[in-house]
Amino acid sequence: CGIVGYIGRQDAAPVVLEGLTRLEHRGYDSAGVAVLGTRGIRVAKQAGRVRELTEVLPKRFAGTTGIGHTRWATHGPANDVNAHPHTDESGRVAVVHNGIIDNAAALRAELGDAGVTLVSDTDTEVLAHLVARSDADTLEGKVRDALAVVVGTYGLAVLHADFPDRIVAARNGSPLVVGVGDKEMYVASDLAAIVRHTTTVAMLDDGEMATVTSAGFTTVRHSDLASTGKTATQVDVD
Ligand code: GLU
Repeated sequence: CGIVGYIGRQDAAPVVLEGLTRLEHRGYDSAGVAVLGTRGIRVAKQAGRVRELTEVLPKRFAGTTGIGHTRWATHGPANDVNAHPHTDESGRVAVVHNGIIDNAAALRAELGDAGVTLVSDTDTEVLAHLVARSDADTLEGKVRDALAVVVGTYGLAVLHADFPDRIVAARNGSPLVVGVGDKEMYVASDLAAIVRHTTTVAMLDDGEMATVTSAGFTTVRHSDLASTGKTATQVDVD
């Protein structure tokens, strides 16, 4: 339902959680956040409100890169395990996702046959395993490989502990915006989540992927990683 990502100089979790509260009016049943710090990815997520998650956030939850989500359940009940972010078995990949993976049942079965243990009931979880299992050298290549076998709609954001300098985001049928700050960058499913930080933004198009680092962003087509060369523009907000 709602996605917020941050990469920059500040602690990511408070920025992400504050952004998620600005999307609360859209409705949701669960909330979660993943941060990428010096010791890898940590996840906190549960059914309920963003404020409740904020209250139970572990004390040591440091990391200047983070992604968060408010979930409107489509596949599997609203519970702690089904809340996003979803991770692979190693815990080195974390994914938040808006939309519906139509072929999730088939992908879950294939992953199960390959020996992967799925822990949630969601369609989203397959994305984390598919990214983790790609043998591409880059995170963009891994996300390309995952999306190549996925049918459905998505706005998504991915963290990978092996590529700690970036968030990769991709869109097909579910909105995503990249926001440009001063040595800090944002990703969101709705401008409202980040507008207090920046009004310099780029809207992703369907089929587009963005690599977001603290220094800026680049965009490609996620089918073949050909550049789409998108630049940010100033938006008017009242
Ligand atoms: N289909 C996903 C799920 O049920 C994402 C739902 C959403 O857009 O919040 O977990």
